[in-house]
Amino acid sequence: MRLQHTDTSVQRVSTLLLLGLGMWIILLIAQEHYQDSLPPRTQPGLVVSGKTSAQASDPNQAVPSNTAPENRQHPAFGERIQEREKMVNNQIKLRGVRDPNVLAAMNAVPRHAFVLPQYQAQAYADHPLPIDHNQTISQPYIVAFMTEALTLDPNDRVLEIGTGSGYQAAVCAEIAREVYSVEIIKPLAESAAKRLKALGYGNTHVKAGDGFFGWPEHAPFDAIIGTAAAGRIPPPLLEQLKINGRMILPEEDSQGFQYLILITKQSDGEIRRETILPVRFVPMTGEVEKR
Ligand code: SAH
Repeated sequence: MRLQHTDTSVQRVSTLLLLGLGMWIILLIAQEHYQDSLPPRTQPGLVVSGKTSAQASDPNQAVPSNTAPENRQHPAFGERIQEREKMVNNQIKLRGVRDPNVLAAMNAVPRHAFVLPQYQAQAYADHPLPIDHNQTISQPYIVAFMTEALTLDPNDRVLEIGTGSGYQAAVCAEIAREVYSVEIIKPLAESAAKRLKALGYGNTHVKAGDGFFGWPEHAPFDAIIGTAAAGRIPPPLLEQLKINGRMILPEEDSQGFQYLILITKQSDGEIRRETILPVRFVPMTGEVEKR
């Protein structure tokens, strides 16, 4: 009797503790999701539980990268490796990104090669950073999260809207066969193309233009990723998505709140859309602003 009573109390206490821990993790994740594209914080303030770490998958299980070792000539690949590993472990794995290909890609791409000289010290920090022309390179976790949502296959052809620094394109190019990326600010498109070429990402293709219209010459795509937010999803992007294709992009509602939307094109051509999480991205400009 007495023993049973103690057992029940222990059970109750553990259930309460687990519930508390669960709510705390949810709050932590929700808070971090709001960070994207916000000004850098001085204190990363990342507190994480070891349990989640043990559950995270092993990056050694990753399939070979699409960027061949002979293309790894650029010295940046050999620099700041420990910071990159720490970024993957503390910011990405612990928040639940599991896809071994995504973890391997985040480990491989030298993020500091995409960051301005004045922000080099923060290149692997847990927040977005300014790039030229008032744009931003996203928080590492958001890049990993969005890439995982695309469930990329080594044979996939990907379209990106908003090349920016080229970092997200490089992460996708580590996993997928070809990455086509469109950037509306011409000097950004030019510098990203140059950077990606210098790093050996021969499977990336950058075009200066309005991503509203996608890249019809190379359509249809297995996956589409948008990294600038608009009030509506450009219809040409839906058209250029393959059957069973996945698209992730931020959408802004009438009150100015942004959410990542995951779109899948069903086998009957129907569009399924899911609202994934609250985010903050720079605005998508050009045609999408005209109503
Ligand atoms: N993916 C980038 C982040 C870029 S921020 C990276 O990894 O660094 C979003 C980018 O979208 C900006 O560079 C902005 O100029 C671009 N952009 C905004 N509207 C666009 C449009 N209509 N077509 C293409 N690019 C656009």
